[in-house]
Parts: sequence; structure tokens; C-alpha cells
Amino acid sequence: SVSLESIKRKFNNVTAIEDITFNIPDGEFWVLVGPSGCGKSTILRTIAGLETATSGKLYIGDKLMNNVPARQRDVAMVFQNYALYPHMTVAENIAFGLRMRKVEPKVVQERVMMVARSLALEHLLERKPKQLSGGQQQRVALGRAIARQPQVFLLDEPLSNLDAQLRDDTRAELKELHHNLGITTVYVTHDQVEAMTLADQIVVLNRGRIQQIGEPQEIYAKPANRMVATFVGSPP
Ligand code: ATP
Ligand code: MG
Repeated sequence: SVSLESIKRKFNNVTAIEDITFNIPDGEFWVLVGPSGCGKSTILRTIAGLETATSGKLYIGDKLMNNVPARQRDVAMVFQNYALYPHMTVAENIAFGLRMRKVEPKVVQERVMMVARSLALEHLLERKPKQLSGGQQQRVALGRAIARQPQVFLLDEPLSNLDAQLRDDTRAELKELHHNLGITTVYVTHDQVEAMTLADQIVVLNRGRIQQIGEPQEIYAKPANRMVATFVGSPP
């Protein structure tokens, strides 16, 4: 599970997020939505250990993580501006996190194949990133994170660079992967369709605060306030 208790993050005098409290049970897929600047990335980065909370508590499982460095958290994050290693092949990129962790070569090979199959990358394994389309590169970035089979998977608008068709396909692949692996996932998006189709629970944020947490249908049918209604496109 991933639990946040009254997490707050200030940058100088600007409060980016405040009073952020939720508990994601093991294996669930949660989606954070809200307007630009509402604090979505700050929440993900705090879970990943790339930001430190100004106050509040963060738990992964039953372990307090506030002072645990990012590299010691069993968490993988994919950014919107993913960066692949240009000198490595697709297979080497996917395997990178596993090699770092001294996973056995045979297991590495199996994981790379599993990930490549689920993300339709099998025929591209020997290519270098610059020989791939943007959508293929994005899938490699997802594959590199998934190959580690982390306890927690953090995705910050991972499909936003893709065209509509590729976004639909990759969204379906992600859903299937989550179904198969059951990794606890926190997913940030601007896209209502992604939120509605992927989420077990949606967290709606505005100005650094939680407006509502609920299942997609519940948020849509019973928005807590006008901001939520407008944002999820509920009927008036
Ligand atoms: P977007 O949808 O545009 O990616 P977001 O919801 O991810 O937005 P955050 O990046 O979490 O928003 O930013 C939340 C607030 O914190 C914003 O007002 C932002 O300007 C501020 N902020 C974020 N990082 C920093 C920083 N390093 N220094 C100062 N202010 C920051
Ligand atoms: Mg962001």
C-alpha cells in the first residue's frame, strides 16, 4: 500500500500541495487529475523520493519513507519527458534497472522478453532509441520501468506525447499489464478517458488540495463541487 498522511510541500512561500491524505491498497490503480499546477507531479515526486515533504508522513507498506532516499525505495517512475540511454539498444535499456540490481542474466532475459511481448517491442529489441518513433520510445521507457517489477509504479502523463491511435493502444496495453502484474500504480493524466478507463479510484486536485476521491462513475455522477463537475464533464 501507499499511504500519505497530511502531506504538505512548500517551495519558499508557495504551498504546492497541502493536507494530502489517501491510502492506496496493494495492487490498485489510482489516477490523479486536476488543472495544470494543482500539484499532481509534486505528489508523485514525493512518493518517489525526488521531493521531500515539508510536513506529513509517507508510508509504503508499513514502512515510514520520509527519510528513505529515492534509490532505496522500491518504486519506478516514468516521466512525460522520458530519457532513454542513446548508446544502448532497446533490450539493454529495458534491462538496465535489473542489471543495476544484479539480477541474474537468465532472469533479466526472461523479463526483457515478457515486457517486450506485452508492449509490442519484440521486433525492435536490437535497435537504438534514435531508430524508433516517439511512441515506440515511450513504450521502451514504460518497459524499462515495468521490467524491474517495482512495488509501486508512478506514471506522470506517460502517454501525452503519443497520437490518438497510439495512445489508445498503449493505454490498453498498460491496462493489460496492470491486470497481469497487479503493481500498485499512481497515474497522472489530463485525459478524462484515461482517468475513467484506467482508475480504480480517481483523486481530483485543485490548487494543491484534494477535492474528491472516488470511483470514476461516482465522481462523474456525484461530483463534490463545481470544480470537480466541470473538470470531469459531469452533466449539469
Ligand atoms: P502540470 O499539469 O502542469 O504538470 P502539476 O499538477 O503537475 O501541473 P506541479 O508540478 O506539482 O503541478 O506544481 C504544483 C505547484 O508547485 C505549481 O504552482 C508549481 O509552480 C509549484 N512548483 C513545483 N515545483 C516547484 C519548484 N521546484 N520550485 C518552486 N515551485 C514549484
Ligand atoms: Mg505535472
